[in-house]
Amino acid sequence: MAFWPGVVVATPAHSGVGASLTYRSELSLAPGTLVRVPLGAREVLGVVWECPTEPPEGLTEAKTKPVAGVLDGLPPLNDRWRQLVQFAARYYQRSLGEVALAALPPQLRDLSHEQLARRLKRRAKAGAKTGAPAGEVADGHQLSDEQRQALDALATAQAPVLLFGATGSGKTEVYLQATQRALAAHADAQVLVMVPEINLTPQLEARFRERFEPLCGAGAVVCLHSGMTPAQRLSSWLAAHTGQARIVLGTRMAVLASLPGLRLIVVDEEHDPSYKSQEGARYSARDLAVYRGKVETEALAAHERCQVVLGSATPSLESWHAADQGRYLRLAMPARIGGGALPRLRLVDMNHQPKGAVLAPPLVAAMAERIGRGEQCLVLLNRRGYAPVLACHDCGWKSACPHCSAYRVFHKLDRTLRCHHCGFTERVPRACPDCGNLDIAPVGRGTEQVEEQLAGLLADVKRPDGTPARVARMDADSTRLKGSLEVQLATMHSGEVDVLVGTQMIAKGHDFRRITLVASINADSGLFASDYRAPERLFALLMQAAGRAGRDAAQSAASEMWVQTWYPQHPLFASLKQHDFPAFAVTQLAERLSAGMPPHGHQALLRADARTQQAAQAYLNAAAQAAVGLPHFEDVTLYPAVPLTIQRVANVERAQLLVEAASRGALQRFLSAWQPVLLASRSLPEARGLVRFAVDVDPLVI
Ligand code: ADP
Ligand code: ZN
Ligand code: ZN
Repeated sequence: MAFWPGVVVATPAHSGVGASLTYRSELSLAPGTLVRVPLGAREVLGVVWECPTEPPEGLTEAKTKPVAGVLDGLPPLNDRWRQLVQFAARYYQRSLGEVALAALPPQLRDLSHEQLARRLKRRAKAGAKTGAPAGEVADGHQLSDEQRQALDALATAQAPVLLFGATGSGKTEVYLQATQRALAAHADAQVLVMVPEINLTPQLEARFRERFEPLCGAGAVVCLHSGMTPAQRLSSWLAAHTGQARIVLGTRMAVLASLPGLRLIVVDEEHDPSYKSQEGARYSARDLAVYRGKVETEALAAHERCQVVLGSATPSLESWHAADQGRYLRLAMPARIGGGALPRLRLVDMNHQPKGAVLAPPLVAAMAERIGRGEQCLVLLNRRGYAPVLACHDCGWKSACPHCSAYRVFHKLDRTLRCHHCGFTERVPRACPDCGNLDIAPVGRGTEQVEEQLAGLLADVKRPDGTPARVARMDADSTRLKGSLEVQLATMHSGEVDVLVGTQMIAKGHDFRRITLVASINADSGLFASDYRAPERLFALLMQAAGRAGRDAAQSAASEMWVQTWYPQHPLFASLKQHDFPAFAVTQLAERLSAGMPPHGHQALLRADARTQQAAQAYLNAAAQAAVGLPHFEDVTLYPAVPLTIQRVANVERAQLLVEAASRGALQRFLSAWQPVLLASRSLPEARGLVRFAVDVDPLVI
């Protein structure tokens, strides 16, 4: 008897190939089985999607090729995983093969049968203990009332939970306890914990390992993120897929990992933009986590759930709105552990400061006072480098990137001009390249320059032991080398450094104990940006930064968040002053409602890259023309093509076209109908010079 498995292989996003390719097999292959199949002259990895006993219409034995090999050491990927992948491909308008294969570790493609068998054997030896971990609380402290209530509510919740907990309210402890409970309930239970950027928060990983390795064995916790080597990724993936790993800690890519025993999904800092992928299938890992929880729950017994917990001190307005509507269950933990207060907001009106001051004198004085008491300060700035641009004041030359419509940033330390978009780096020229003027000077400010200035301003300030104050910097440049982030965090934790200057990466999740003052020195750009999500991001960033101060309850009463602004009357600051995220959310959601913006409306972007801006826009406009009359065309609004804010990157011109709809369903159906039109439009004469196009559903930046 012959079988005709439909196999999904890595196909380019819009190759037009159907969902699966048909092969032949002597054996019946379970859906989800990993196979190797011939494709053209190559042999590629594929996933069996269905395995009928009759060939699809029009196919004969002569027209199909046999499956080349089966990875029979591995259990098939289960139905829920395939359902998740299928949903992601459909919702984000990509091919099934692209999403399915991208969710597998790349090294799986190159491994021979023997190599795979060897790895599985090695893994089996290193595997975690199965079975329920014993014991309740492992590290001694009593849960706070709020933590206890949240955990109790979590146990019975019939919807995804939005854990709205202030910074320092002990959300991580709730995740740990919920994890423990999920693992205790079933011998083969698994938990997925997602974080925005694992490298920035080594503490979280340490806490999970500390808690669960003694209970479940050394291999119980594995990580999954793009910073790992291919071999490490394969190893973690195999551990998760075979059930040997009980806890997977990962970034957005982990949402697509194979986890046959999945019983709990935690999405920490659920508002973080890095959960939205910006390339390939542009999926939201947070939204997929919610879908995944639903699919897993449907497959469980009636009284069981695969619970999803979305945690944040400043939830995304999408999740907040879902909780308003009752689709998510909101659990609030407003109090900080130990009863400490959140820092007091001090707005510095820059209109009343000495002209040209980067740091207002009262702020510098406040920092000096704290250093004198042995406390620490954080200074937050949204720009790395020394100064954004170098300019010639004689002829107006600026350090533009030759490949992008952006300026290169001056990095003083190695005297380079570096493009933060394409990476193009050059030595700083000795003189103005246009007019030869020797006096080219920095304009604007970056972290390096603020670090230098602060060191000067605090030069005479002494720590309690009489030694001079120390200023350090932490940003993407200072942490480029492997391990340097840990070293820099350690100097902060040990108290070696008094003032840390940095980009938003210093605001994220760190549990610094001795910080009592946090300052944001150039927040205003977030108040009036063209991007409608900018205030939401600014509010989250400032709340999160404020959360770094006063984490030690003994010092929290005296802790402060300073914000330098030219617009102290802005309503965003009024809510921030009260630490009142709900009030901020209400006004923002009302504004979004009146403008039909998400979450009250739904959006997608069609993006085009081309050799000329004209070609990029012409393709988009032609695709819009060709959409007339498609199903649900009346329910969507197509806007004219526009260039991106940074229009050219690495010599590619970029443009986009916004699609809006009141209903998600209508938008989805329109996009599906539009997809073949987008493919066909590539061969229109207007589209000459088009490099690629992509659809971004639920875009974060428009
Ligand atoms: P969040 O993630 O909400 O910002 P954390 O989980 O990091 O807060 O908790 C803040 C601090 O409080 C951590 O140092 C943590 O170890 C401690 N902590 C958490 N829960 C308790 C508790 N019930 N009793 C004492 N300390 C706790
Ligand atoms: Zn010049
Ligand atoms: Zn560039």
